[in-house]
Amino acid sequence: MPVTETRVGIGFDVHRFEEGRPLVLGGVRIDHPRGLTGWSDADALLHAIADAVLGAAALGDIGRHFPPSDPAWRDADSRELLRAAVTLVARDGWSVANVDGTVLAEAPRIAPHVEGMRREIAEACRTGPDRISVKATTMEGMGFVGREEGIASLAVVMLARETGA
Ligand code: MG
Repeated sequence: MPVTETRVGIGFDVHRFEEGRPLVLGGVRIDHPRGLTGWSDADALLHAIADAVLGAAALGDIGRHFPPSDPAWRDADSRELLRAAVTLVARDGWSVANVDGTVLAEAPRIAPHVEGMRREIAEACRTGPDRISVKATTMEGMGFVGREEGIASLAVVMLARETGA
């Protein structure tokens, strides 16, 4: 009888706002005066999800697999990075059972973009949008998020695989 084995992983990421950069979150380009800066396209939500995918399979983190020193990932589309993380865990038989992500941002409003993000994340995770949750909260004006210095994201991912028992 096949048995479904599951694992859970957690991810966190943060990127700083910078003038003149496009804002990309959850694989969606958002119209905003400033974008996020850093490694690749600085998509803090997709980075948190990719870290949670790798964490669930105990395969380290995205810094280990996709190092910022590697020019291949400079200004890269983070959907490619998430696809690569999902491909890595698939080698061990894992598939994404569900994703629950939270964006911490004072601005812009995330709600109008949630459905687009769910579709992008689902495609990168090789699953359906019904298994992908994206939520958002402000920080009530407190801390670096409250001062609009950057955007942070949290994610939990469950992986599943069938094992013979
Ligand atoms: Mg990052």
